[in-house]
Amino acid sequence: MRYEERMIDEVQSLNDIVEVISSYIPLKRSGRTFKALCPFHQEKTPSFNVHPEKQIYHCFGCGVGGNVFSFLMKYENLTFPEALRNLAGRVNFALPEPTQRSTEEVSESEGLYEAYRLAQEYYSNNLKHPEKGQAARTYLKKRGFEEDILQEFPLGWATPEWRGLFEFLTRRGVKDTVIYRSGLALRSREGNPYDLFRGRILFPIHNLQGKVIAFGGRGIGDEMPKYLNSSESAIFRKRKELFGLHLAKRFLSREDSKILIVEGYFDFLRVYRSGFPNVAATLGTALTEDHVRVLKRFTHEAVFIYDGDQAGQAASLRGLEVFLEGEMSIKIVVLPQAKDPDSFILDKGPEEFRKLLDTAQDFFDFKWNYLRHRYDPSDSAGLLKISTEFIETLSKIKSSLLLDRYMKKLAKLLGVGEASLRNELVIFQQKIRSRERSIVSQVTSKPLGNEYPEEWTLISLLLEEPSFWEKEGTSLSSEDFKHPRAREVFQILERLTASGKEIGYSQVFNRLEEESVKSFIAAYSLTELTQKDKEKAFSDCLRKLKQRRVEERLEKLRQAIVDAEEGGEKGKVTELLQEYRLLLTQKG
Ligand SMILES: [Zn+2]
Repeated sequence: MRYEERMIDEVQSLNDIVEVISSYIPLKRSGRTFKALCPFHQEKTPSFNVHPEKQIYHCFGCGVGGNVFSFLMKYENLTFPEALRNLAGRVNFALPEPTQRSTEEVSESEGLYEAYRLAQEYYSNNLKHPEKGQAARTYLKKRGFEEDILQEFPLGWATPEWRGLFEFLTRRGVKDTVIYRSGLALRSREGNPYDLFRGRILFPIHNLQGKVIAFGGRGIGDEMPKYLNSSESAIFRKRKELFGLHLAKRFLSREDSKILIVEGYFDFLRVYRSGFPNVAATLGTALTEDHVRVLKRFTHEAVFIYDGDQAGQAASLRGLEVFLEGEMSIKIVVLPQAKDPDSFILDKGPEEFRKLLDTAQDFFDFKWNYLRHRYDPSDSAGLLKISTEFIETLSKIKSSLLLDRYMKKLAKLLGVGEASLRNELVIFQQKIRSRERSIVSQVTSKPLGNEYPEEWTLISLLLEEPSFWEKEGTSLSSEDFKHPRAREVFQILERLTASGKEIGYSQVFNRLEEESVKSFIAAYSLTELTQKDKEKAFSDCLRKLKQRRVEERLEKLRQAIVDAEEGGEKGKVTELLQEYRLLLTQKG
């Protein structure tokens, strides 16, 4: 579903960025911009800038930036359509029903959804098939899952055949290109198709709307690796998806409900089926901000269930810190040694599991108990070790209220003064900030700009000074841009001017998908240049791009001349040589 660009521009222009942001955080005027303490990272001096003329914001501290939509999406954890509706509501703008996506986009994702829907049907029938599915059903039974599970969870079975699915999809009219793009089949070096999943039980991964977008596959013999997931595609992004959340979300609407997070597919099945439907599984990847954003739409508390031998990993809270940063409350349960949720429930039953969940500890208490047993708090080296580890974790907490409470608690437990702990926290945050700053400078030069800085400078100058476009815009073409993102921005500029629209940061941002590109451009925009500097920079960059174009053409000509000579095409050689010489003189 997509709203028309015209609507997006209009809603954006009705919502002044300074007004909107200042309704969330206090802004202070400073010259041509407004400054504030950044709401997205902890800081003592303001590095968050809002630019009223350009209608963009940017933080020098953590590198985020964008327009009014980007701000709302990030601040309120909203999707783009949600942010759009929110801002439209703010100015009483009546949004019409969203129009369909462009046909190209529709056909790409729709094609993939269709391929996965059919694959699901195929794999599911395989598992139910009396002979074909026998081995898989036996395996499931051995693991304690009877056939009735298939009514609730449409598990599948990929037989060991090389192209069972490929042939099935082809018979159902799915094009080869779509099959390859879905990742469900690959091509051998000789160009022969073969299925990705062979000899595996398949767990369909659904998006929140309940559509199958990928599979997780568990080998039942000695297949390597033991678990294999679909590769990413236009409809599947690992860092956004949690297995089973489309089912769990229905149980997360109540105020007190929390999400249980487990690691494996079988753990999910067991926990869900044992009367705990508020569960989701990670897809074998680290937890990301995107996961937190999605979860926060349904709940504010997550309970992590760790295998017994992962206590250390749990205490270090790596991966969980994104939840603290996202201001979600975290609790932790560690199972007895050598148990995962699946084997624990099989062994002890759901009631014992429920009791165990009741013992879930707040991350603070959990960490304290773990560290206390590892290091001796009465010994000064131990004390230092514990406080350092804690401070690292506590520095992720954004709410000062919560941080206050934890600092008091920690000071009391360690028997040290709160002031000295505070002091350590400040020192630690300073260290992090300087590290972040160097990361920011890396991010802003890599991976977007490092390779083709002249292209990015040119882009930002075109945005900054519309007169540059009027003068030189048509002498450039999108092929002159080597960086795919810079090329994308240039194409947006072309489209905007072709339809007689104004060129500006906001118009371009409204048409750009990737937030990181917006942050990057916003960062570029804040370098203050005089008009003279701008003109000089513009003509330098323009010359570089044009020179590169000439050099590429020369290279192609050299190749063509060699080919023509080998082919004995004398007339063609002369012709090509003429063009070659002409270009050389132009290059000067
Ligand atoms: Zn920041």
